[in-house]
Amino acid sequence: MSILSKLYGLKKLSPKEAAKEAVQSGCATVAYTYNEPLIWYEWVLDTAKIVHQKGLKNVLVTNGYIEEEPLRELLPFIDGANVDLKGDKGFYKEMCGVTRQEAVLRTCKIMKEQKVHLEITNLIVTSKNDSDEQLQELIDFVVTELGSDVPLHFSRYFPNYNVDLPATPVDTLFKARDMALRSGVQYVYLGNIRGERGNDTHCKNCGTLVVKRSGYVTNTTNLTKDFLCKNCGTQTDIIWN
Ligand SMILES: [Zn+2]
Repeated sequence: MSILSKLYGLKKLSPKEAAKEAVQSGCATVAYTYNEPLIWYEWVLDTAKIVHQKGLKNVLVTNGYIEEEPLRELLPFIDGANVDLKGDKGFYKEMCGVTRQEAVLRTCKIMKEQKVHLEITNLIVTSKNDSDEQLQELIDFVVTELGSDVPLHFSRYFPNYNVDLPATPVDTLFKARDMALRSGVQYVYLGNIRGERGNDTHCKNCGTLVVKRSGYVTNTTNLTKDFLCKNCGTQTDIIWN
């Protein structure tokens, strides 16, 4: 047993064992995240296949930086994905050392085209990707290339490790949210902020509250059993498992 295993209670799991544990624990879905799952691609692919055979769903939480061929091989086994779209080309180059931002954009487009339920997360970092132009570029990509029904999450940055810029002002997150809503994004959420503002889901047609979130507790309200808004009858795009 390694020191890491002792410290954090980590254990070695084969794809078969992981799928078996998911079934035994009553999980509906297996999420591949923390660390970047595309780093351990082969394990994710093998596990996702077995998980599907057992009737559970798979969710990938990823930076989306992957070649097209392995992505297409994996996607038939992925039901949902949250891709971290970090910013414009300059941000990727400066903060990530990545010169091919377009690879991430391509991943998002292929996921959408392959009918994977896709959500986008953007961590807004003070002075690095928070200008109106940068935010609008990202919002426009979501609306025009992916669709206005793709949920967009803006997360608050905090100084850590090698970056000591001040934390993202909360007002910046609300500014980004307003810009996205004005541009037609139907579902916008704010992450890493205190309180409950920006975490709920509202009917895209009439604005009625349909999902209330508080921490990890989620409750639906004002919905029919077919997930139509009780107030106006609009389909709310909710996938409930
Ligand atoms: Zn409604």
